[in-house]
Amino acid sequence: MGLLSRLGRDSRLLRIAIYGEPVLREKAAPITEVTEELRELAEKMTTTMYENETKGIGLAAPQVGVSLRLVVIDTSSDEPPSPNASPGELLLEPRMPLVLVNPEITGVSAETSVYHEACLSIPELSGDVVRPVVVRLKTQLLDGEAVEIECGGLLGRCLQHELDHLDGIMFVDRMDEEDRAEIAEDLRILERQAKKRLSKGRR
Ligand code: ZN
Repeated sequence: MGLLSRLGRDSRLLRIAIYGEPVLREKAAPITEVTEELRELAEKMTTTMYENETKGIGLAAPQVGVSLRLVVIDTSSDEPPSPNASPGELLLEPRMPLVLVNPEITGVSAETSVYHEACLSIPELSGDVVRPVVVRLKTQLLDGEAVEIECGGLLGRCLQHELDHLDGIMFVDRMDEEDRAEIAEDLRILERQAKKRLSKGRR
């Protein structure tokens, strides 16, 4: 795949693609084989997620310029799990950070909630997004283990945000029209900056 030649072997951290860069709007390709290179990518993505200026709780491969269906996630906390935590939070949070290979959402709850979201690819902007409270996650983990489980709480929310990235969707697309109008000019500025970087031959 030649992933790492594109990513640069030296740096521990990967450059995060910013709103306006076309890779964020592509539909990412499924992963056919977990190679050593893919593991290295996942590790660098995890480090990048933790060490970014604003620490992230999830990062999708398109956000580091790689259009593959790979997500890293860590929504764990030091708090004991809440008594109404979902099966997914109970199973997966103790094992975080997790690498999800070809993750899918196979079902969602009718109940929705509002949460104020942000994104490492859209610096300094945030907004309210309505999403289902619980989702059914079907994924492979890096070691090949297959998991299908219901995830709620912050995990359920974060999964929906990250999996959207694999289909070129960003949280601002899901904000209501009024809220979006308020940040429209900031988004246009980011788009213009991305165009400038591209025309200078930098990614
Ligand atoms: Zn994001």
